[in-house]
Amino acid sequence: MRTTAAVAVEPGKPLEIMEVNLELPKAGEVLVEIKATGICHTDEFTRSGANKGGNFPVILGHEGAGVVVAVGENVSTLKPGDHVIPLYAPECRQCHACTTGKTNMCTAIRRNQDKGLLPDGTTRFSMLDGTPIHHYMGCSTFANHTVVAEISLAKIRKDAPFDKICYVGCGVTTGVGAVINTAGVEVGSTTAVFGLGGIGLNVIQGLRMAGADMIIGVDLNNDKREIAEKFGMTHFVNPAELDGQSVSEAIIEMSKTEEDDWGGVDYTFESTGNVHVMEEALKAAHRGWGESIVIGVPPSGQKLAAEPIQLLTGRVWKGTSFGGVRGRTEVPKYVDWYMDGKIEIDSMITHIMPLEDINKAFDLMHAGESIRSVVTFE
Ligand code: NAD
Ligand code: ZN
Repeated sequence: MRTTAAVAVEPGKPLEIMEVNLELPKAGEVLVEIKATGICHTDEFTRSGANKGGNFPVILGHEGAGVVVAVGENVSTLKPGDHVIPLYAPECRQCHACTTGKTNMCTAIRRNQDKGLLPDGTTRFSMLDGTPIHHYMGCSTFANHTVVAEISLAKIRKDAPFDKICYVGCGVTTGVGAVINTAGVEVGSTTAVFGLGGIGLNVIQGLRMAGADMIIGVDLNNDKREIAEKFGMTHFVNPAELDGQSVSEAIIEMSKTEEDDWGGVDYTFESTGNVHVMEEALKAAHRGWGESIVIGVPPSGQKLAAEPIQLLTGRVWKGTSFGGVRGRTEVPKYVDWYMDGKIEIDSMITHIMPLEDINKAFDLMHAGESIRSVVTFE
């Protein structure tokens, strides 16, 4: 069949809207009609060429929602008409990683997924001249139709609006999951969130759900302050307005109390993708027990630097992918939380546009004008 897609032909160039060939799903695969897709900073990371592991040409997009159109052989958990969210973190429930119960980092199809291929090592997309087009993160949601592995699809309720819950495919779940699963934040905790973009705001709403007392937001862009306060931020720091003090020093000062003259917060979250910010986030975690969670993805090859004394004195540094969430098991619950009003999504979706305008979404991201842009398909 043919479908319309936004293709990243080479790194650093705008996406090109074109008709592409899409083969029908093979064994263990599912054809999905994408109804809506968000545009995440991780798509830009690959589009721009900063991701040295990027495969081109490629159909990007990993934050979508849609409807099952057809299933390949041996697909037993999904049928045409089911509503689904594609998962860049699959969940096979059989590999060693899945069965440990300790992680959401399923390894069943990971190697081929990282090469831009489906589990059998081939692509279903190609250009009209036959040139194969890579898949992206096992999802490729910047296309009206896509083929995805069965284990990379979460089945969700049918009454949830696609143009909102597509955001559960990455940003919402990553941010809220980092708080609930990765950090395990307790009621009354003191916290700081570095970077108040599409991920950071969801960390903040996760912290509010978990009952954190102090939620310090850090961003270079003062325009992010108002919306972050709406989501539960209690204090704001702009590193550019600190007059010589480092951000970690500022946070340590702010969090000192009568009984704790040392300062530092219980949990810090980094969602900018800047390694120096990650280092500041570690230093801002409290001596003895503070945990710092890395969420942002820096350009390939960059290294973290920290004095080991930071860890020797009890701080914990860890990272998270997709908020540690097991997609097929837990994503339906996130959709329920949205439908029940427990998590807020609508006000974070600042721009909705047709696929033809998708390059504008990247411009808005660079200008710091959007939280999330969403492309909808008629
Ligand atoms: P975004 O562009 O919407 O937000 C980034 C925010 O950080 C912006 O508000 C920006 O002003 C702020 N910022 C930039 N540099 C800063 C600095 N030095 N100090 C303070 N604030 C600064 O991006 P996003 O969609 O929220 O994604 C954030 C990061 O998370 C990206 O690196 C993305 O690739 C990554 N990500 C990781 C996962 C995961 O599973 N670990 C999932 C999705 C996204
Ligand atoms: Zn993402």
